Amino acid sequence: MGYWKRHQKPDGQKALEEFDAMGWKIEDPPKYYRVKCPCGSHARSIHLTPGNPRYFQESIRWAKRQRCMKEEDR
Ligand SMILES: [Zn+2]
Repeated sequence: MGYWKRHQKPDGQKALEEFDAMGWKIEDPPKYYRVKCPCGSHARSIHLTPGNPRYFQESIRWAKRQRCMKEEDR
């Protein structure tokens, strides 16, 4: 589910759903997905076929560490 193009890997799709649940915006790939945080100053690429099996989990962990998640709306 989601407004973005479905990720070809189940783990990748799950990660994008988590980004969505956290209020991040997801841009579809030509080469990779791009996720943007609610405050607009954090962004990250999400690759389609990363070599690292923990890549998607690590991307989520990275997002949760970004300070904007805990700040009030500006
Ligand atoms: Zn941010």
